[in-house]
Amino acid sequence: MNIDIVSQARKAGLAILAFNVPYLPMVKPVVEAVADQNAVAMVTTARLEWIKFESRSLTAVAEEFYRWNKPENTWLHLDHVPVIDEDNLAVDYMPLFREAIALGYQSVMIDGSRVSFEDNVKATQRVAELAHTAGIPCEAELGAVLGHEAGPLPSYEELFATGKGFTDPEEARRFVENTGCDWLSVAVGNVHGAITGALKDQKKIEARLNLERVGQLANITGIPLVLHGGSGIKKDYLSTAITKGVAKVNIATEIRQAYEAALRQTGSVVSAQGAVYDRTAWLIRDYYALTGMRKVIGEFTRN
Ligand SMILES: [Zn+2]
Repeated sequence: MNIDIVSQARKAGLAILAFNVPYLPMVKPVVEAVADQNAVAMVTTARLEWIKFESRSLTAVAEEFYRWNKPENTWLHLDHVPVIDEDNLAVDYMPLFREAIALGYQSVMIDGSRVSFEDNVKATQRVAELAHTAGIPCEAELGAVLGHEAGPLPSYEELFATGKGFTDPEEARRFVENTGCDWLSVAVGNVHGAITGALKDQKKIEARLNLERVGQLANITGIPLVLHGGSGIKKDYLSTAITKGVAKVNIATEIRQAYEAALRQTGSVVSAQGAVYDRTAWLIRDYYALTGMRKVIGEFTRN
């Protein structure tokens, strides 16, 4: 297998940031900011970003990525391909994974969090096997990281207090054992930013994390954990979660809103790209303190 940068980050007690690009012009400033900080990070797109936003297609994102890629610093990842999507429709997911692999995506994520445990295991097994045959890592999700659905959500306080939808450690152990997935996206208080209607422009709620659960999940599964909904989580929670086993953090809302706001204000894609560059560099340097992490991650190249 190609080097697994998330496992490398875990060994070093660091995390790989994965920046979602719902608009193609975001790819260039993200890559440049990551390289300028001498960091290692992912450019990533989820199925809903080419369906509901404007990343257009798997091909369009890959072309844009390989146009600007700094192979020492940046990595192309396919985020959330759901078994059942946010509108409750079944997705024919295998062809998408085959296409992504052929296009040079360096890791992939299957999201079976909306189906039963058994069906999630089955789907993840299939995708992990396909990914491993191609020599790339596979991420999966267990538990419900809410936020992408259009309907109303329970109040955050209620969600956190009850731990409803949080990943269960014993289930996680069985899941990882049976699927062979490489990284596990967990629900421990993190939520996705809203993507529909007026809510999508609102500031995200400040999420908290059940850090004890993070530690339990990391120990029992023995694989790196992934935190989705990284925007809007308090810094202290994030840094502790990283020491306890989170080795990949997805960031979507924060850089999307920077892009959209700048574009609205100036009408200029170049200005909006500047806003994305600044926000990405700030996140790496000031928020996550991951400047220079290139030095501790092994070499990696496109397959
Ligand atoms: Zn996510």
